[in-house]
Amino acid sequence: RDIVQPTADPEERALEGALRPKTLGDFVGQERVREQLGLVLKAAQIRERTADHVLLSGPPGLGKTTLAMIVAQEMGAPLRITSGPAIQHSGDLAAILSSLVPGEILFLDEIHRMSRPAEEMLYMAMEDFRVDVIVGKGAGATSIPLELPPFTLVGATTRAGLLPGPLRDRFGFTGQLEFYSEAELELVLRRSALLIDLAVSGQGFSEIARRSRGTPRIANRLLRRVRDWALVHGVTNIEQSHAATALTMYEVDERGLDRLDRSVLLALIDKFGGGPVGLSTLAIAVGEETETVETVAEPYLVREGLLGRTPRGRVATPAAYAHVGRPLPEGHWS
Ligand code: ATP
Repeated sequence: RDIVQPTADPEERALEGALRPKTLGDFVGQERVREQLGLVLKAAQIRERTADHVLLSGPPGLGKTTLAMIVAQEMGAPLRITSGPAIQHSGDLAAILSSLVPGEILFLDEIHRMSRPAEEMLYMAMEDFRVDVIVGKGAGATSIPLELPPFTLVGATTRAGLLPGPLRDRFGFTGQLEFYSEAELELVLRRSALLIDLAVSGQGFSEIARRSRGTPRIANRLLRRVRDWALVHGVTNIEQSHAATALTMYEVDERGLDRLDRSVLLALIDKFGGGPVGLSTLAIAVGEETETVETVAEPYLVREGLLGRTPRGRVATPAAYAHVGRPLPEGHWS
């Protein structure tokens, strides 16, 4: 998933970092989450306490990491970043928690992928700011209580539904991030273009925004690809047609669908007669992990009305047939 996933190229990473908004005021869109989170932080500042734990959920690239950084910035606190898959043993978590400084913000990305024992340790840490560390094995094992400094956990997950109830309940605030509108993505793009010193026309911005899958990370990524194309073709002022040509070359279609999105739709239509088909079967057909299809491709396809979720499985809508240029078969459920 070269378009959605964070990039491995150090220069691109540096650029991605530079484009991150640093304050809530700079953060485009997500009005409700921004307002509610702003209130949580302000109240904590007035009470001179650490802010309540925050859970952020939503598809990748909508700004969860950025918001965690903003929380730290606004609270004037240091930020520690880790992720669920990095915490395999409860000892890993105990080591991180016990080394936090008072007030520190702990960002735990992909929190739904933490191991069970670590998750249970986290319950207690979030609630009572202490953990029980088990020392030794078998009959000689003892549990040593460890006091923790007060901290704010910012958890991120692609789907809040993947979290066990007891964990979800321990967050004081949950923010559900939504896909961005085209107008919001245009604002993200204008800000980024200014920062990387790129001249793009109004229509040029709209063309890139329309193909950005409602996702700021993708918008920024596409802007850089358009920049590359313009550089190679000696274009200094990027117009709509330039953006369209460049992005078509990168296999991003006029609706923002990329290769994975299209292969999901094509598999659904060509291999499974439009469905219904189970998610895991569909994932195998496109050679991806079930979670990737479910959390990366599907939310956008559903939002665009191209894919439906039914109790019997996934189905392609008439709009999906039209989009990939296949005739709608007779007797289609629609
Ligand atoms: P993941 O869950 O995959 O880590 P994420 O939701 O944490 O994704 P971020 O890394 O926070 O996404 O954001 C991706 C990029 O998109 C950032 O580099 C940032 O520049 C940009 N971005 C995200 N949200 C906004 C926003 N609201 N306004 C402007 N830029 C944004």
